[in-house]
Amino acid sequence: MKTMTCKQLGGACEKEFTANTFEEIAEMSKKHGMEMFQKQDAIHLEAMNKMQELMKSPDAMKNWFESKRKEFEDLD
Ligand SMILES: [Zn+2]
Repeated sequence: MKTMTCKQLGGACEKEFTANTFEEIAEMSKKHGMEMFQKQDAIHLEAMNKMQELMKSPDAMKNWFESKRKEFEDLD
């Protein structure tokens, strides 16, 4: 099991997610992000705006995703 924080995964807080695969942890952070969005949590909304900017470029998004995957894989 590996642990990454919301912040490390493009979010805004120090909440930790633990999973065996990057896909799993990405899904957990996405769910958390949606919960925070529903609560209209300011810091998460700001982080989401940044992610949406990034998503306008498929290449940038792909690079970001791959770099996060590598970060996950490199954890002990
Ligand atoms: Zn968070």
